[in-house]
Amino acid sequence: MSKPISVHKFGGTSLGSAERIVSAARLLQKAAARGPVVAVASAMGGVTDVLLQAARDAERGRLAPARTAVEAIRQRHLEAAQGISEATGKAVEFDGKLLAELTTALAGISMLRERTPRITDLVSSFGERLSAPLVSAALSALGVPSRPVDARTMIVTDDRHGAAQCDRKKSDPRIRRALQPLTAKGVLPVVTGFVGRSPSGETTTLGRSGSDTTAALLGAALHASEVVIWTDVDGVLSADPRIVPNAHLLRRLSYREAAEMTYFGAKVLHFPAVLPAIAAGVPLVIRNSFAPKGPGTTISAKGNPGRGIRAVTAISGMCLISLDGGGMAGIPGIAARVFGTTARIGVSVVMFSQASSEQNIALLIPEADRARTVAALDQEFRYERLTGAMDGVKARVPIAIVAAVGDGMRGTKGVAATVFDAVARAGVNVEVIAQGSSECNISFAVDEGDRAAAVRALHETLAAE
Ligand code: ASP
Ligand code: MG
Repeated sequence: MSKPISVHKFGGTSLGSAERIVSAARLLQKAAARGPVVAVASAMGGVTDVLLQAARDAERGRLAPARTAVEAIRQRHLEAAQGISEATGKAVEFDGKLLAELTTALAGISMLRERTPRITDLVSSFGERLSAPLVSAALSALGVPSRPVDARTMIVTDDRHGAAQCDRKKSDPRIRRALQPLTAKGVLPVVTGFVGRSPSGETTTLGRSGSDTTAALLGAALHASEVVIWTDVDGVLSADPRIVPNAHLLRRLSYREAAEMTYFGAKVLHFPAVLPAIAAGVPLVIRNSFAPKGPGTTISAKGNPGRGIRAVTAISGMCLISLDGGGMAGIPGIAARVFGTTARIGVSVVMFSQASSEQNIALLIPEADRARTVAALDQEFRYERLTGAMDGVKARVPIAIVAAVGDGMRGTKGVAATVFDAVARAGVNVEVIAQGSSECNISFAVDEGDRAAAVRALHETLAAE
């Protein structure tokens, strides 16, 4: 049996300059010494934004700034190629031919004064199509046989431009057919992240930060040993270091812990983006390309069993909606009507609780949805308000949700006591509490002004890892 492939994805900041590209290539070279590697490249940092702005300018008929943007992009990649040549001592050419296609696309937008999702995808695809050949050239210059691979030859998507979904049935065999022969020959493919193609052959993109998705898709299709996400942070920390300066690195997390953490505000990973890897059981490793000696965070099915609370996260910008009234007790269907209402108007309920006295239902929703949610609930319960069965619908802002997360909380006695003891000692008033039956998350709502104090107090109770 040949060794399993590992997939290494580099984000925009990790490819921001010639120096960064060369150090990415060195990291790939090291990984390739251990086994077969497939790389995924994002656009050089900020390039996707510049491209999208150029498309918007073109749409308004402002072709001059759009052209200036193309020149700036040319210059940036030219300088990167020169820098790679200097650093490696091998000539690296920048092939600017692609930019002619970009210029034509922008001219077309400006002529029609119309920017369809389809043409927007074409324009934004250039960042990755320009960066992947540079990364590959840097590898070749270091003596690692490599080849750039345009993901559009493998990743077939639907035609939802801007947020296309991969058709795994069609793509997986194409991915294997395209990449396995290369790695078998010792060639390191550098795949363009973010892009795919629709069944009719048009360029699509997988959504912002879509290179993570590309890496996850390749990892799943290739049954990779791991998908390494090279980024600009050390990994996942036990809390936001801006609030808790001594937050520590979590070296191992389960998929579920990582999911709970992202859901409650930690910017670990955009979870839906990496679902293909998770579904295939491929471990995800987050590592810092600026400090590559660090161990990073490995997110896998196994996680780190047997520990209690492992992380504290928080989200701001919440609104606490409460429905109170003596007449609500024992009447079936109130909760169903509450959730029916939020579902109908498309508001996502982040957390909720009802105590057994049934005199109060509390919902946490995004602050931005406050007005329409209150209006819709007022309307839904107008009769109950009229008869006095319900006092009315109250909304409070600004509210934050704080969450303690850890697989090991399940079945561990006294976790809730630890949490609320710590918070009480910090003098923080808890508004609403929820614990999912998975028991790996205890969440509570506090005034925004108490958010930092609650997070700090809770973090004090964590064991160092
Ligand atoms: N370049 C794309 C973006 O900026 C995709 C990525 O970086 O993952 O969103
Ligand atoms: Mg990016």
